[in-house]
Parts: sequence; C-alpha cells; structure tokens
Amino acid sequence: MITGSTDVRKLSGVGPKKAEALKRVGIGSVRDLLEHYPRAYQDRTTFTPIGQLQKDQDFQIRGKVIRLVSGNPYPVKKQPIRLQVEDATGILEVVFFNARYLTGFFKKGRVYDFYGRVTASLAGLQMIHPEFSEASEDEAPGILPLYPLAAGLSQKDMRKWTRAALSEISDLPEVLPAPCRERQRLCSHRYAMEALHQPPGKDSLKQGRYRLIFEELFLLQLGLTTLKRTRDQRKFDESIKKTADGESFTQSLPFPMTGAQKKALSEIYQDMESGYPMNRLLQGDVGSGKTVLAEAAIWKAVNSGFQAAFMAPTEILARQHLESLTKDFSAFGIRVAYLGSGLTASERRKTLEGLAKGTIDVVTGTHAILQERVEFQQLGLVITDEQHRFGVTQRSRLTEKGWMPDVLVMTATPIPRTLAVILYGDLDISIVDELPPGRKPVKTYGINSNRREKAYNYAEKEIQAGRQVYIVTPLIQESEEISCLSAEETYEELTKKWPDYQVGLLHGGMKTEEKNRIMEDFYGGRIHALVSTVVIEVGVNVPNATVMIVENAERFGLAQLHQLRGRVGRGPHPSACMLIVGGNSKVAEARVKIMTESGDGFYIAEKDLELRGPGEFFGTRQHGLPTLKIADLIRHRPIMEKARDEATLLLERDPELLNPEHQELLQELNRLFNWEDEGSIQL
Ligand code: ADP
Ligand code: MG
Repeated sequence: MITGSTDVRKLSGVGPKKAEALKRVGIGSVRDLLEHYPRAYQDRTTFTPIGQLQKDQDFQIRGKVIRLVSGNPYPVKKQPIRLQVEDATGILEVVFFNARYLTGFFKKGRVYDFYGRVTASLAGLQMIHPEFSEASEDEAPGILPLYPLAAGLSQKDMRKWTRAALSEISDLPEVLPAPCRERQRLCSHRYAMEALHQPPGKDSLKQGRYRLIFEELFLLQLGLTTLKRTRDQRKFDESIKKTADGESFTQSLPFPMTGAQKKALSEIYQDMESGYPMNRLLQGDVGSGKTVLAEAAIWKAVNSGFQAAFMAPTEILARQHLESLTKDFSAFGIRVAYLGSGLTASERRKTLEGLAKGTIDVVTGTHAILQERVEFQQLGLVITDEQHRFGVTQRSRLTEKGWMPDVLVMTATPIPRTLAVILYGDLDISIVDELPPGRKPVKTYGINSNRREKAYNYAEKEIQAGRQVYIVTPLIQESEEISCLSAEETYEELTKKWPDYQVGLLHGGMKTEEKNRIMEDFYGGRIHALVSTVVIEVGVNVPNATVMIVENAERFGLAQLHQLRGRVGRGPHPSACMLIVGGNSKVAEARVKIMTESGDGFYIAEKDLELRGPGEFFGTRQHGLPTLKIADLIRHRPIMEKARDEATLLLERDPELLNPEHQELLQELNRLFNWEDEGSIQL
C-alpha cells in the first residue's frame, strides 16, 4: 500500500534516473505526481475518415499501408520514409524524416493508427511524424493526458505511473464536506483524480476538473477567510492611538515630499490616529520614495510611545533600511537595532533584551524578526517592505507580537484592484503614483549579444566620470545545461578588462558577512562595477549608480527587468539600462520593446499580463499564497465566488473546524497554509 507521502521511487519503473528527472518538475512524492495535472489532452476517441481530414488540425486515423517508399535497408542519408495509408474514404501520405530506426517497422498490407497534425503539401494532405501504433482489436485509445515534462520523461512514463499510483494509493482524502458537494453537485475527490489522469470520456473529465478547481479555490478561500477573520476581530481601542505630530520629522528631511507622498502619508497618519488598527497597502513604483513614508510612520509610532518593526525580504535590503533609519533618526534619539544573520550571539542577545525591555524603539531585519523568541515590550507598528515576497501567515505572525499593531505593507508590484481585494481582503490601499522631481527617465536599450562590447564601453566611460555600474547575470556559475553568462565568468572577464577599477561580485551563494562587505563597498563607492545575480533586484538604493547592464535579458520576466532598471536613475545623473539579449526569441523581443517604450510600472505590469496570461503572472507563489495547481484566479472567478460562499457557510457552522467530519479538511488547510520556514526569502 502506498500513500500520498510515499516516495515516487516506490512505484515500479521509477529508478534513480527517472526520479531525478521527476525532481526537475517538482515531483518527489506520489501526491506530487498525482497533483502534476495534465496540461492538455489528446482526443483519441474516434478515427476520422481520411476523406474528411482538414489541414492544420490534429486527427487520428486508422488505415492500411498500401505503398511504402524507402524499404531500402540502407536508406540514403536523410531520405524520408513515406507511407501511403488508405481507408474506405481516401488515401493519406505519412512521412518520417531522418527515421532510420523505423526502417522495416511498417509492413505493407497491415493496418496502423496514426495521430498527428494534418498539413497540406503539393501532393495533397500529409501527416508528418505522427504518433503511431499497430491497430489493435480494441477501440480507439480514448482521451490521453499530456503532462508537462522534463528531459528524461515521456508521456508514456507519466501515464503508466499515474495509473499505478491511482490503483495503489490508500489515502485520497475527501476534504469537501458532503453537504457542500451535494449543493454544488461535485463528484468525489477520487473520481476527479481518476477522471483527470485516465478520462473515461469528455464529460467525466469536465466534471473532474471542475471539482478539483472548486476544491483548490475553496481551500484558498477558507484559509484567507480564517486569516482575515483574525484581522476583522480588531476593534476600536483608545490605547492604540498614535498622536505624536509627525511634522518635525518631515521638516527634517532634505527634500520636500511629493504630492503623492503627502497624500499617502496623511492617509497613514489618519489610520494611526484613529484608534482602529491600520491595515494599509502602500503601492508605489520603484523609486517613488516609499522608504521615507515608512520612516515617517515609524517616527510617529515611536514618539507616541510604541515600538516598530520594519521587515525586509533580503539581508541587503534590511541592512540598507538600518542605515537610513539610523541616519534619518539620529537627530531624534530614536534607538534602532537590527535582526538577521551575521550578528554575534551577544549582539543578538542584546537586541532581544532591548526589544523585550523597550530600550530599543525600532527593529529592522529579515524574517528573523518573526522568530518566536523575539518579543516586544509594546509593538505598535509593523511594516513589511516589498510585501509580495512574504506569506500572508508571516505577516500575521508578526502582528501577533503586539496588541493590535498598525500594519503597513509596501510593494512596488502593481496589483490590479480585483486581485488585491482577494489577496489583501480588507486592506486599504494608498498609491504613490509620482516620482520625486528631477528624475530623468532611464534610457533603455535592447542590445544584441554580439554588440555587448558597446554596453561595456559605455559603462567604462561612466566609471571614468565617477559613476558606478551594475551588471546582472542570470546564473551564479557556468552551467553545462544552460548557455548563458554566469556572474563568476563575467566577474573574471571584467577584472581583466578593467584592471584600474574595482570590480565586485555578489550572489546568493555567498556568506552573509561577505555579501555585507561587498554591499558596503558598493554603497561607499569603493566598488565601481558590481557583478551580481538578481539578489539586488529589490529595493537597493545607490543613487551614484547610473548603468544597469542585464546579461541574457531574455531570461528575466518583465516585472524583474523593471525592478532591475529601478536600481539606476535614483540620483541627479542621467542613467542607462542595457538589456543584452542572446538568441532571438519573440517573447524576449516583445519584452525588450516594452521596456524601451515605458518606465511606468503599472503599464509594464499590464503588458506583462498580456504577454504571459493571468495564470503565470499571478503565479501566486510570489504573493505568498499556496501555489494553485489547477485553478486560475482570473479565468475561474465564477467558481471562486461559489467556493467563497461555501467557505463562509462552513465557517459559520463550524468556525474552528472542530467537527470530526472536518478533520481531513483542517489537516489539508494546515498543510497548505503552513509556510513556516519555507523560502519566500530570496537570499
Ligand atoms: P522606493 O519607493 O523604490 O522604495 P526609495 O524609498 O528607496 O524608493 O527612494 C528612492 C530615492 O528617492 C531615495 O534616495 C530617497 O531618498 C529619494 N527620495 C524619496 N522621496 C523624495 C522626494 N520627495 N524628493 C527627492 N528625493 C526623494
Ligand atoms: Mg524600497
């Protein structure tokens, strides 16, 4: 007997090699295998009479081979194998190129099944390289699933393994409550799984898919509703009002705030003064100046007698916040500390003590702040920067460290309002839709890789003029499988090319101390050119940097390219972004074109959506929700609404899911929403 958590290697036919290949598509357990849903199906239920074939569509035919060209056992190189296949309604030509291995396979006079795309040639209709098998007594093969594959896996493997898994698995839990299934007329979980992997017909396939989509959205809604409920229970409380006047902080800044910043700040301050806990999402494009708004909120909280926590997704960003808080608060005697890796045991202990006793006012850091041992004396404000990297639970774990603290989540990822409502529920939204004055748009160029020299010459001139440059590569190390530049190679190359300048290397595989040292040198202007992987993607602020070179730009998504470009153009000097494109993919070309056309994050996000389709764009992982394996938040909205109603109903009847009938559901929910130490952290 096997269960969902059984290792796939227990299935017959899955050896170490195959297991390795399965790992590449994220399959380790039997459950992973069964939840690796087909991406499409081949309709092989019927045979189309040859006389009814149409070009440019996929068909299955059954016919007799009546003529065979190239029966020659030593075919001339590249001589194709041509068959003429006949049924009662006509004749079709079937062609295989470079297929010596097929020599002698087909026999004149025998009947075979072929499945493939029908194309038009001068001689009439053809099938080129169809799938084929000798016709058996049986009916047609039926509806065949097509799985997303990796090298070393075949559709046949996948079909065989899922079949075996389904027949042997003992636990395919039914998580949907019976009344809900009845109301929504949903089939059972097992039926659905079987229908997806071995569809007996189109109707069952449809029913099965519907059921699994519903289930996934139901669990999502249930989880989100539970999280939101905790939030909704917060009530008015006089004691949480933050009343200090923030004016003296904003006065202390070296620049006046933009109109958009002022508006967002007044919304934030109103919340903080209200006596109801703030729940606000602050959206603003890269470089729009969100950090000072966070500081202004922290200033107000601290001067009203509270502590604040400021959480960032990477060490680099957290350290950068530490720097700017320390600097901007130095005149006010606000005590700032840091929590993350790279601290000595005694430094850490001191910070923990200070937070518990209230001798530290603000802590900035990574998810280290979430750890259980971190206690606050009076936590009144929680800010997460680049929020999309954090899970929903991570956020709520932080708020539990205080008594109804204000919550501000900041993001540069534009989220369409409809989706924001699902993801953030009752969060209020402020938008900073204006860049500080004097910012010049970053000139953006798409460059063919055989002209990369140009980009580097430009960068060299900028370094000569006292500026700094970033070079971002997709890989840390050279790889045999993927042909693109690695950070290490590029670093080697540049140290040779620019002996007079200091070149630095930064990537996620380095030790924290080393990364910190490199970043400090870059902040301090001691490193002129920083070669890095995407560790610098979010938030890094070095206004003296004016050139961003992205190697193998085709490997990055639009949102990422926009974030990367956002690292330059942050100071008074004109800046440039060079996207070096290897190969010639249409998508890469389209992305580069959009990047050269616009600097507006919202516009780029919209285009991204068009290019990629909603499923991938909202690959919900980056929003910290469980990965959706079959449902699509945009396409399946109507199902989502039904699922939400059912979730609400269930929670009204059994708010804590204590009913014995709901135990499997509760377990499943915990499994899905338990991101505990999972890596939404990038460094
Ligand atoms: P982001 O919104 O991407 O987090 P930052 O907060 O890092 O942007 O701000 C980018 C840069 O703009 C910083 O150097 C910051 O000091 C500066 N800045 C912020 N607001 C203003 C302003 N109103 N006028 C001029 N510069 C500003
Ligand atoms: Mg920022």
